[in-house]
Amino acid sequence: LEEQFAKSQKMQAIGNLAGGIAHDFNNVLTIITASVDFLLLNHRTGDPSFQDLLLIKQSANRAAALVRQLLAYSRRQTMRPKMLNLTDVLADNHLLLQRISGDLVKLERHHARDLWPVMADIGQFEQVITNLVKNAHDAMPEGGTITISTRNVPATEVKSFGYAEMEDEDFVLVEVADSGTGMPADVAERIFEPFFTTKEIGKGTGLGLSMVYGIIKQSGGFIFVDSRMGEGTTFRIFLPRHIPSAIEAPRAEGAAANGTK
Ligand code: ADP
Repeated sequence: LEEQFAKSQKMQAIGNLAGGIAHDFNNVLTIITASVDFLLLNHRTGDPSFQDLLLIKQSANRAAALVRQLLAYSRRQTMRPKMLNLTDVLADNHLLLQRISGDLVKLERHHARDLWPVMADIGQFEQVITNLVKNAHDAMPEGGTITISTRNVPATEVKSFGYAEMEDEDFVLVEVADSGTGMPADVAERIFEPFFTTKEIGKGTGLGLSMVYGIIKQSGGFIFVDSRMGEGTTFRIFLPRHIPSAIEAPRAEGAAANGTK
């Protein structure tokens, strides 16, 4: 399971990063290749720098091939947002989440009734939650409790959370809280950076939370962390409430028959 996790994290993060970086990187490579070609024109095969220039050219070609692969990969990862009821998605994933939590950890759920629907990619949301639960598990080597809760946050209550960047709109809140080690402020500040990890080599990639962050931003949402050393950590995800129009499917995917209207 560990290995599977590390792999899917890596792949997702590569996909998310690739699209943005690859384009700029390609421009840089074009300049390198063109300059080397120009220099090669002015050198003969026997010249001392000829082999070095050839090596630069070959390496630039290899880099270009890698960029093409990355681009091909990131294109496969397009979002397919659908109207979702997150309480239902979490319920459907409970067994998997329990397995990730491990035997020492108690997994609790508190879900609001009549949770508003959101627009999100179900696979990506599952990745977000499994990553948060995996990290929570890692922060509780001696066991503890993970609490996953969902609730509606009407526009009038947004201010009470004190997050300056959030507008007064209706949101659905998903909280993942653990009773683990917590983290110092300087760590908490950096956790969403790609490749930032405090775990030993082989245990962490540092890509999980950067991927989580990317997915939530792409979905128009917000993610915040609140952590206290020795007490635990809470992640809060806010996704905008989706108000279905008349022509859309009458209920959220996975919702119960008497679910959201
Ligand atoms: P990784 O898990 O591979 O290290 P992440 O991006 O998922 O990468 O996490 C980055 C870092 O954030 C972790 O190495 C850890 O220091 C910290 N972290 C994440 N979640 C928690 C948590 N629930 N409790 C304590 N620290 C955490």
